[in-house]
Amino acid sequence: MPVAPLTLRPRSARLGRTANQDYEARRRKMPWRAWYKTPEWRAIRRQQLNAEPLCRMCAADQPSRVTAATVCDHVRPHRGDRARFFAGPFQSLCETCHSARKQRIERSRASQSACAEGEAP
Ligand SMILES: [Zn+2]
Repeated sequence: MPVAPLTLRPRSARLGRTANQDYEARRRKMPWRAWYKTPEWRAIRRQQLNAEPLCRMCAADQPSRVTAATVCDHVRPHRGDRARFFAGPFQSLCETCHSARKQRIERSRASQSACAEGEAP
């Protein structure tokens, strides 16, 4: 009986999903997602967006862009650490920068640190 050759494809490709859809599906299941619904977080978010109402990444672009911020973003990834999650530091971002640019930066940092850990004794 013929056997299909072994292929090395990411799980997302086998399921007809993009890697980003896989990433979002995993994120939704994380326990820290519930922290975004707490009064404590809502107050932090409101305070951050009041203090810094424009997207920081858009403002840093050359030429600079003026975009209303809607996301209170963790400057340092909290990685599920509750103290870090609520302590910040935070920055204001627009939805586009948060969902595209920031995630791309964090993913590239994560793969860089994974490589560095693999190389170091
Ligand atoms: Zn932006």
